[in-house]
Amino acid sequence: MKGSILLISGPSGSGKSSLMKELLARTPDSYFSISTTTRAIREGEVDGVNYHYITKEAFERDIEEGFFLEWANVHDNYYGTSLRPVTRELEQGKLVVFDIDVQGHAIAKEKFGDIITSVFITTPNLQTLRDRLEARNTDSREVIDKRLANATVEMKRIGEYSYLVINDDFQVALDGLMAIATSVRQKISLMDTKSFIDQWGL
Ligand code: 5GP
Repeated sequence: MKGSILLISGPSGSGKSSLMKELLARTPDSYFSISTTTRAIREGEVDGVNYHYITKEAFERDIEEGFFLEWANVHDNYYGTSLRPVTRELEQGKLVVFDIDVQGHAIAKEKFGDIITSVFITTPNLQTLRDRLEARNTDSREVIDKRLANATVEMKRIGEYSYLVINDDFQVALDGLMAIATSVRQKISLMDTKSFIDQWGL
């Protein structure tokens, strides 16, 4: 089995992080690609677990040094995926899980093509997303408005993804996501077909 990438996008507040956490816990040989960001750390988040939190200056230096596989400016902050750990885990045959936005998805698709399976996670409608962001109580009104505006822009690009998961009922959404992850593992294009055929004695 060669490594593969499960790339997940979706608006903040869609329940994407909780779904991904469950997916990673239930999937052996999976690895979460920890992004680097310049946004402020939120309550409950841990540096080096949710993100690597760095300054704008350090981020711009890393861009120049070719540290990122992709990076983007989302809601006025930088977010980027580091190249080295992803390559290392792919070489070990892992299922590497990305949580990146639509801009990052377009770049990653160009770079990795076939080994990426992409999923867009969202709420059934905009009002549900607004309600969840407000209930979360971690962002100011201004930040929530910015996230909702960004969500409507992202939603228009769902046609670029392979799968859509609507997170209305958490368990149903998780079952859908798990089914997608399982199917990725069974893609013939990612398998070492030669050794399997040899094993058959053919
Ligand atoms: P949040 O601030 O809610 O954690 O994330 C905001 C947005 O940034 C989300 O849409 C998330 O998918 C995206 N994001 C997180 N990490 C990366 C990354 O490494 N690259 C890109 N392009 N987007 C990212």
